[in-house]
Amino acid sequence: MMPTAPRRTAIFGLMLVTLVGCSSKPSKPDQPMSSATKASNPLLGAWTGPWGGVPPFGRFKVSDLKPALETAMAENLAEIDRIANPAPATFDNTIAEMDRSGHELDRVASIYGVYTSTMNDAEVQAVESEMEPKLAAFNDRIIQNSRLFARIDAVYAHRSEPDLTPEQRRLLWLRYTRFVRTGAKLDNAAKAKLSELNQRLASLYTKFRQNVLEEEGTQMILLEREEDLAGLPAPLREAAASAATSRGKTGQWAILNTRSSVDPFLTWSTRRDLREKVWRMFTMRGDNGDAHDNNQIITEILKLRAQRAKLIGYKTHAHWQLEDTMAKTPERAMELMEAVWKPAVARVREEVADMQAIADREKAHIKIAPWDYHFYAEKVRKAKYDLDENDIKPYLQLEKMREAMFWVAGELFGLRFLPISDGSIPTYHPDVRVWEVTNAQGRHVGLWFFDPYARPGKNSGAWMNEYRPQSRLEGEIPVIVSNNANFVKGKPGEPILISWDDARTLFHEFGHALHGLNSSVTYPSLAGTAVARDYVEFPSQLLERWLATRPVLDRFALHYQTGQPIPAKLVEKIERTQTFNQGFITVEYLASALVDMKLHLAGETPIDPRAFERETLAALGMPAELVMRHRTPHFGHIFAGDGYSAGYYSYLWSDTLSTDAYEAFAEASGPYDHAVATRLRDHVFSVGNTVDPADGYRAFRGRDPGIGALMRRRGFPVPAAGAGTSKKATAQ
Ligand SMILES: [Zn+2]
Repeated sequence: MMPTAPRRTAIFGLMLVTLVGCSSKPSKPDQPMSSATKASNPLLGAWTGPWGGVPPFGRFKVSDLKPALETAMAENLAEIDRIANPAPATFDNTIAEMDRSGHELDRVASIYGVYTSTMNDAEVQAVESEMEPKLAAFNDRIIQNSRLFARIDAVYAHRSEPDLTPEQRRLLWLRYTRFVRTGAKLDNAAKAKLSELNQRLASLYTKFRQNVLEEEGTQMILLEREEDLAGLPAPLREAAASAATSRGKTGQWAILNTRSSVDPFLTWSTRRDLREKVWRMFTMRGDNGDAHDNNQIITEILKLRAQRAKLIGYKTHAHWQLEDTMAKTPERAMELMEAVWKPAVARVREEVADMQAIADREKAHIKIAPWDYHFYAEKVRKAKYDLDENDIKPYLQLEKMREAMFWVAGELFGLRFLPISDGSIPTYHPDVRVWEVTNAQGRHVGLWFFDPYARPGKNSGAWMNEYRPQSRLEGEIPVIVSNNANFVKGKPGEPILISWDDARTLFHEFGHALHGLNSSVTYPSLAGTAVARDYVEFPSQLLERWLATRPVLDRFALHYQTGQPIPAKLVEKIERTQTFNQGFITVEYLASALVDMKLHLAGETPIDPRAFERETLAALGMPAELVMRHRTPHFGHIFAGDGYSAGYYSYLWSDTLSTDAYEAFAEASGPYDHAVATRLRDHVFSVGNTVDPADGYRAFRGRDPGIGALMRRRGFPVPAAGAGTSKKATAQ
């Protein structure tokens, strides 16, 4: 349900556009190192090797990271000083020049991003703790550089001049808007006040995150007797035993306070009393009235965000956050969420009725409660669909799925992937492999790094990372991207079997990679996945759909022992379960997204988070049998940073686009329709942020998106025209 957002490295352009300044007291500028030091740091200087150079993996030490970042930041500040000169400002000497600057920092920050996400040992963590505040302060210095902003402002005043291309006009608008949005237009007193608010918010975010981490890391339900394990499959018992052992409770079993520990317990445990206990622990994170309670922190965060929005000139934090998204206003996002809410709640009622029927047949003498949902949903799934995950796995081999993704990229976009196994492209770990990517004309378009296995120091989950965006501003610069996952490495020579969900995630992240690889723009800060938050998951969610296409399954879903393709009967079962449990999935997500938006629309009204959540859910008609996916006191997406605050709706927004877009193929000759695929590349996958996403989508689809496809995909009744992201909702 919740795809992992692409993890972007702290590329200068992105830091500039996405971070809000956090410090009013930037440290003294670091002096550039002497040229002798610079020459001795392998991270500094242009990348060497083929195709515009490749990252110098294997040639530097972790201890080179900090001095390289410091030198690159100082260099970038000097570049910005040169741009902020007294000569008359033009698009080329100001806006374009900003895209020509910061390359040293781009390169170093890219490698820093790789190390903090995939090689994060104690030494890297120490560098990270020291450098994060410095990077934030650096960002502040650029945003609050009034000479620089005066030039951007001057160019923006002449934005309608005919000699600007549409891409240049878009870049100018984005630069200007993002500077203004982060306070560039304020007077000095207001700038100081803004920085003060940002600093206080930054420490509140850290405290919020630490409180949740503390409760997730220390709270657990200890099971002391064998009968407490009733219903749990052997692998879960083993995991619980080793969790207890590692916490000094050998001979017992521990259910930890994390989703990956709690959800399987709620699904399989036949002990209703323990399910309730585990469920209560998990849903009360950050809300226990003790030293780690987050309620007061939330009240203050909401108050400061409202003040900040007002200071910069916006009605609410939600209005501020949505301005540069595809939805553009909170009202449009709310319209979509409200259109889906009622049918999703109606589906929950049906799902609960199915579960209650089973409980009644079994004479359980219960009324379905939130701690029963996963448990009875599983029983309904078996009864209705007779589908066992273990029947699918033997057909899903990791390397075959990778080949399937390559084949799909070839069919849709004409891309070819050629392995580079001669060691000519260095990597940061022996498990990482590299492919060269060429287009239909045989021209080099980029490199694809694949880092598939779990290891200590690597983030959990799966993500895409961009080491270098495509651009043409200073000659053709090819893209370098990576896909990262956490599969358990098998024995040498043995295939790694993955689940259907994991295969879908592979395709999802590969969709982000193709968004980067297909990029064809002039300015690097507009390339590939540098698009609005509620648009970036659209290409990736869309690509997931090709996993279930017939040619992929027939050619690549082959039994690891017999080589036989997956039987049609099994595929039909998979297809039939697509709409299963969608009531639960949609309502638990939407309840969080709606509360998020309403909290950030409330303005400066003081908020009691407990009462607000209770009253909002009651007014919405939240079914009693489930809770928000993320309750307010531990909703890290929205309180551990600005990130997805007033933005949790984005996943649904993107899914509206991806389901609607996939139907364009169905309306033509099918998923491999050449004309539709070409339009998809030309108007979505190749344009990056050079066009307004609503315009790009319209050019691809011939019309605005509607929510019909989303509703069909989830098995909900399709409303009459006019709801959701209909014409009205996306009108400019
Ligand atoms: Zn994603």
